[in-house]
Amino acid sequence: MITVVSLGGTIAMTPSSTGGVTPGLGAADLVAAVPELTDFELTVRSLRSLPSASLGFADLAELHAVVEAELAAGAEGVVVTQGTDTLEETAFFLDLTVRADAPVVVTGAMRPPASPGADGPANLLGAVRLAASPSARGLGTLVLFSDEVHAARLVRKTHTASTGAFESPGFGPLGLLVEQEPRLLTTPGPRARFPIGSRLEDVRVCVVPMALGEDGELLYGVDSRFSGLVLAGVGAGHVPEQVVPVLAELAGTMPVVLASRAGAGSMLTRTYGYPGSERDLIARGLIPSGFLDPYKARILLHLLLADGADRERLRAAFAGFS
Ligand code: ASP
Repeated sequence: MITVVSLGGTIAMTPSSTGGVTPGLGAADLVAAVPELTDFELTVRSLRSLPSASLGFADLAELHAVVEAELAAGAEGVVVTQGTDTLEETAFFLDLTVRADAPVVVTGAMRPPASPGADGPANLLGAVRLAASPSARGLGTLVLFSDEVHAARLVRKTHTASTGAFESPGFGPLGLLVEQEPRLLTTPGPRARFPIGSRLEDVRVCVVPMALGEDGELLYGVDSRFSGLVLAGVGAGHVPEQVVPVLAELAGTMPVVLASRAGAGSMLTRTYGYPGSERDLIARGLIPSGFLDPYKARILLHLLLADGADRERLRAAFAGFS
C-alpha cells in the first residue's frame, strides 16, 4: 500500500473564476486522473490546498507526522504532491526528519491538469512506481520529476517553466524511469536524521544574498529580528571586504551559515586568504554549509535551532554535508 498526500500546487490547480489557475484538486482527484494507478493499492490524504510559496513550517511538521504515521501503519511508501516552487525545501525537510527507510517521494507538475501536455499524471504515476519499488528504500527522500529520480539532498528547481525544471547541479539524477520502471544507478550516501524540536514555529532564519558592490546594509539589526542567518556568498563563500565588520559582529551574536549563490559545488574552507574570503569568514565564526545551497542550509539551520542546538552541534551538522 502506498499513501498519496497532496498539498496543492500546479499539479492540483484548476482555472479560477477570477483568472489564472488556483489549487482546487485533492489527492483523490489526482489519483483518479491516472487510470494506470488502479494497479496499485493506494490511500489518499488531502492535507493542504496551497500554492507552495504559502507552505510553512507548521505545514511541514504536520506533513512529517502524517508520513511517519502512514509508514508506521504499514504503508510501503509515501508520495507527496505539492507545488514545485518550494518542492526542494519540503523534500529536504523530510529527508532530514523521517526516521524510516521506506521510500518517500515528492513530485509535482509544471503544467496544470487542464493544459495541453500536462505533466502531473506522468509524474504522479512515476512517483507511485518509485515509492513502491524496493530499490528506492534507504535512499532518503527522493524527487521524481520528468522521469528522473533525484536525491532531496541535491535537487533544485532550476527553471521557471520547463517540464524538466529539476536538476541536481554538479551531480545529476540518481537514476531514471525506464519504460516506467525505476533504474537507480547511484546512491546519495548515508543520511543523518534530525529531531523536530519544540520551537519549529518560533524560529526565524533568513537568507541574505551577496552581490557586486554590496555594502551589507541588509545585515544591520538582523540579529534582533532573526534566530539565524544564512549568507548566500559569492563564489565559494566570499563577500565584499566592506561587509566583513557587520558579519563578524553578527557571527558573535547569532549563528551565521556561509553558503554560496553559485548554484553547484561545495563551499571552500582553506583556499583564499583576503578579507571577505572563506578563510577570513570562517575564522570570524561563520559556519560553512558544505554542499548545501542557501535554501537547504536554511532548512537545516531552522531545524537545528528549533531543537536548541548549540554552536558545536551546528558545526557538526553542517560538516556532515561537506
Ligand atoms: N506556483 C506553483 C506552486 O509552487 C508552481 C508549481 O506548482 O509548479 O504552487
